[in-house]
Amino acid sequence: MIKYNSVPYNYLPYEFENTSKIFLRWKKLIRSTDFTLGKFVSEFENTFSKYIGAKYCIATNNGTDALILCLKSLGVKKGDEVITVCNTFYATVGAIVAVGAKPVFVDADDRFQIKYDEILKKINKKTKVILPVHWGGASPKMDKIIKIAKKNKIHIVEDACMGIGAKIKNKSPGTFGIINAFSMHPLKSLNVMGDGGMVCTNNKKLYDWCLKYRNHGMINRDKIDFWGVNMRIQPLQAIVALNQLKKLDSVIKKRNLNAKYLDNLLKKLYPNVILPKRLKDYKETFALYMGIFKKRDKLIKFLISKKIECKIHYPIPLHLQKASKKLNYHVGSMPNAEFQAKNLMTIPVHQFLSKKHMSYIYNQIKYFYEKN
Ligand SMILES: *Cc1c(COP(=O)(O)O)cnc(C)c1O
Repeated sequence: MIKYNSVPYNYLPYEFENTSKIFLRWKKLIRSTDFTLGKFVSEFENTFSKYIGAKYCIATNNGTDALILCLKSLGVKKGDEVITVCNTFYATVGAIVAVGAKPVFVDADDRFQIKYDEILKKINKKTKVILPVHWGGASPKMDKIIKIAKKNKIHIVEDACMGIGAKIKNKSPGTFGIINAFSMHPLKSLNVMGDGGMVCTNNKKLYDWCLKYRNHGMINRDKIDFWGVNMRIQPLQAIVALNQLKKLDSVIKKRNLNAKYLDNLLKKLYPNVILPKRLKDYKETFALYMGIFKKRDKLIKFLISKKIECKIHYPIPLHLQKASKKLNYHVGSMPNAEFQAKNLMTIPVHQFLSKKHMSYIYNQIKYFYEKN
């Protein structure tokens, strides 16, 4: 149990308190010697495919490789452009660059999601893919993005890395694009005690290609179809994933309860605190509970002194990173994302916290604005 007057960001020490089922299955794995792919990985892929609602799943060793695999399967390469949002984790853009393509940034909207109405302006002959991100475990307006993509005959690849367990009208993130990526990194909703990733698609051709590319382009032990690489998930992680997947809906439920409770409290502090709109029919994973807070930097210091571990995701938008220099953006290119980088804060609402923690957070923030 976490004390009520402290709100740690890190939930990992609590998540695996009972590992007996995982160890039992690991023992089975050890006896089977199915150490690369094999039946545990297949079982996980089949289970995940049912959970998400996609025909085909290919488990990879992490979310970054899952994104690379998606883009490569569509033949995205040097000279192509991929449109994505400028406030995401580095890996979204790293994957685009890894296949040789040029990332083209779009600003964020008031929900910290890709500003869909600015996508159209960025489309040209070189645009191969629109890559929306389910940032923080919330979702962008997928219906609008799908319309733009269809009209312009461009594929969508979703970065649903933070979106396992989220929903848009009962449909899972990662089932809208032609081929899509998920992550099972410890800080995502499905945590596998290490790295893990997944690619989902309903397209048999892309599936067959990905299966081979993930495993050296092999048809069988003696023959390869084309040059591939090794992007295989570890069976140890597949076993953890199977175990955690059973609990996922209750984890998401708890996070939603905390988030809703905190929403209702923090609303009272408007306009010192501005929360993103929660859309009807959109279920979030609350990988990140974000809001805009006046005097953010001073507030965060104060909260940390009260053992409330808040974070900033992230202080520098990607178009202003050193790595983006050659892309020729400048301060002012993405006004929303730049404003958010200076004013947003992420508050822990994870499943090991309760209403009492949420009240504690609220009371401290309220106190801060009374004094400042
Ligand atoms: C975590 C994350 C990734 C990368 O996943 P890894 O499994 O860490 O490689 C990519 N995109 C987003 C939005 C993420 O949150």
